[in-house]
Amino acid sequence: MNGSLLLRNATLLDPATGHYTEGDLHCVDGRITEECPDGTRSLDVRGAVVLPGLIDAHVHVTASTADLGSLPSTSPSYVALHAARTMSRMLDRGFTTVRDASGADYGLADAQAEGLLRGPRLQFCGRALSQTGGHGDSRTRGTNVRDDHPCCAGLGRVADGVDAVRTAARDELRKGAHHIKVMASGGIASPTDRIDSTQYSAEELRAIVLEAEAANRYVAAHAYTARAVNRALELGVRSIEHGNLIDDRSVELFLSHDAFLVPTLVTYWALKQEGREHGLPESSWRKVDEVLGAGLTALERASRAGVKVVFGTDLLGGMHRHQNHEFRLRAEVQTPLEVIRSATTTAADLLNLTGEIGTLAVGAYADLLVVEGDPLDDIGVLAEPKHFRHVIQGGEVVLG
Ligand code: ZN
Ligand code: ZN
Repeated sequence: MNGSLLLRNATLLDPATGHYTEGDLHCVDGRITEECPDGTRSLDVRGAVVLPGLIDAHVHVTASTADLGSLPSTSPSYVALHAARTMSRMLDRGFTTVRDASGADYGLADAQAEGLLRGPRLQFCGRALSQTGGHGDSRTRGTNVRDDHPCCAGLGRVADGVDAVRTAARDELRKGAHHIKVMASGGIASPTDRIDSTQYSAEELRAIVLEAEAANRYVAAHAYTARAVNRALELGVRSIEHGNLIDDRSVELFLSHDAFLVPTLVTYWALKQEGREHGLPESSWRKVDEVLGAGLTALERASRAGVKVVFGTDLLGGMHRHQNHEFRLRAEVQTPLEVIRSATTTAADLLNLTGEIGTLAVGAYADLLVVEGDPLDDIGVLAEPKHFRHVIQGGEVVLG
């Protein structure tokens, strides 16, 4: 269990340069090293391509159903076991690190880090901050009581007003949040808001950004329209989630603020195909068309302009199995190398883990994906996990 491993005869893909090199890869104590001690277990990977383990920067590991309104009344222990299975399967799909975009907490992150559950390294934000009637308020119109019991498995918490959002942000930071998630526009899986609404006042958003920055953390905002995205970027939000309806001004703001865009195309694709079977209410299903087609156009526009684009999926419930299909959707408007960078080097930058993950450099975690085929030539190599020969995490072979 010391995480030492020697990969022999490897074809190594460096996502930063897009170049292949032939050679051996050494891992000691969970990290990539120059050399291995004598007697280290070795694995011959001749004929396969080795790249860094994949990073998905927008997941909800606790989303055991697409009916998010039912989560707060579901047993936390049941949801935790669902999350354990979801995380285990993400690892099988080559994702050695994920960033949770609301729902996961320090309990799941600690359990993963201690080896209690099998899954990707986990960055979490706890509950997403939402205004009353916002994307994180799961009440239907007829529900007036709010049950914010902190032990329940909801994805959001409602806070209104500058003082209340400061307290909510501080409370999530107190629980170890790696970033603060805010709902800055309407969404699909929320019962009472509209996609084109902006959410939170400028004063509230700014207060949340300042609290995150005070703790050396950052804010990620759920936002669809240019109006919501541009406002969030101007107020200091670092990571825009979805961003399907951005405009030219958004692109300028991403570049001038050095911000990240995290599209989540596959979730719309999956929701359209089978969302209703997985508990997505009819009212939410009808919202999908508003954002489906626009997402690819937004990705193309941002990518061409040099915006830092990161891989995200945002899948819910039984639709998690489509996670790798995001690679194929993006390849319609990006080169395979650009898509691979979004799930390795650029994602590592967003997670503030540059040089630690998403790279084969000496000193990085030995999180590796060994695949059959050339992913620079055919993105299908990553879009279909049947091409994976091994998944390695911290120098341990966890698949294959
Ligand atoms: Zn969202
Ligand atoms: Zn999400």
